[in-house]
Amino acid sequence: RAKEMGNNNFQFYAREMNASVEEKLVLLEGLRGALDEGQFHLLYQPKVDLRSGLIFGVEALIRWEHPEHGVVSPLRFIGLAEESGLIVAIGDWVLHTACRQNKAWQDAGLAPITMSVNVSPRQFEEKRLVERVAAALRESALAPGALELEVTESLIMRDLAQSVGKMRELEAMGLSLSIDDFGTGYSSLSALKSFPISSLKIDKSFVRELADNTDDQAIAMAVISLGHKLNLRVIAEGVETEQQCTFLRDNDCDEMQGYLFSRPVPAAQIAALLAEQARMQAGCAHPGRSLH
Ligand code: C2E
Ligand code: MG
Ligand code: MG
Ligand code: MG
Repeated sequence: RAKEMGNNNFQFYAREMNASVEEKLVLLEGLRGALDEGQFHLLYQPKVDLRSGLIFGVEALIRWEHPEHGVVSPLRFIGLAEESGLIVAIGDWVLHTACRQNKAWQDAGLAPITMSVNVSPRQFEEKRLVERVAAALRESALAPGALELEVTESLIMRDLAQSVGKMRELEAMGLSLSIDDFGTGYSSLSALKSFPISSLKIDKSFVRELADNTDDQAIAMAVISLGHKLNLRVIAEGVETEQQCTFLRDNDCDEMQGYLFSRPVPAAQIAALLAEQARMQAGCAHPGRSLH
C-alpha cells in the first residue's frame, strides 16, 4: 500500500513511524525510572451534583513530570505503561496516593467525598487486583465506600465473566464502580445489566457539541434514561459550557465534571473548594448569623 501511495508518501509515512517509535522508546525509557524518581503526581477534578451544585467527589488524574519533556499527558504514556506492564506498579501508586489523599481531607474535617480512580485493562486483569485495592484501603484507613473505580466497557468485555466476577468482589468490599467513557465501547445492553456498577459516565465526545448537535442530544438523553432505568446515576464528562450544563440538567442528568466547574487541580485547591462549600452551606443553614 505504501508503494501505491508513491515514494514521497512512503518516506513521509516511514518518518512518521520512526518519530513515534523513537518517541515511544524515549518515553518508555523514562517511564521505567519515573516512579522511583518521584516524577508522578495526581491532580483531582471535582464531580458536581447537577441539582445542588455541590462537589460530591473527585477523579484522580495522573501527571508525569518528565525531566526533559515537561508534563507528559496520560494519553501519551498510559498506553505505553499498559504495553510494558509498568501500569501495575504505577496503578498501585495511584491507588495508594489517592486513598491517602481522600483520608487526609477527611481527617482535616472536610465533608466526605468519593475518590474515583481510573483502572486500565492490564491493571484490572492482573491476578491480585482485588488484594491490591484492599491493601490501598487498609494502608490509608480509608472507608471502602469513599473509593470508586472507573473502568471502561471495552475492558470489561475483554473477558466478561471474569470481569463481572472481579467487579462483584470489589462491590462486596464496599467500594463502587463506574463505567467511564460510556458509549464509546461496545458492551451489549444485556451485558450492562449484569455489571455491578453504580454509575455511567457519558463520554465527552457526546458532550462537546451537545448545545447544537441533535444526534449527540439524542445519545445523551438515551444514556440518561437507560442509566436511570437500570438504577444508575449518570454523570457527564467534559462539560465546558453553560449550554451543555443546562441541557444536561434539563434532561435529568445527575452529575457533571468538566472545565466549566473546574479543571483538574492539586489537592490543596480541592481542600479550599470543599472548605468554601462548607462555609456557604453553614451560611445558608444559619441565615441569622449575618445579622450579628
Ligand atoms: P478519563 O478517565 O476519561 O478522564 C477525563 C479526561 O478528560 C481527563 O484527561 C481530564 O483532564 C479531561 N477533561 C476534564 N474536563 C474536561 C473538559 O471540560 N474538557 C476537555 N476537553 N477535557 C476535560 P487527562 O487527565 O489527560 O486523562 C486522560 C485519560 O488518561 C483519562 O481519561 C484516563 O483514561 C487516563 N488516565 C488518567 N489518569 C489515570 C490513572 O491514574 N490511571 C489510569 N489507568 N489511567 C489514567
Ligand atoms: Mg475516568
Ligand atoms: Mg472518562
Ligand atoms: Mg474520556
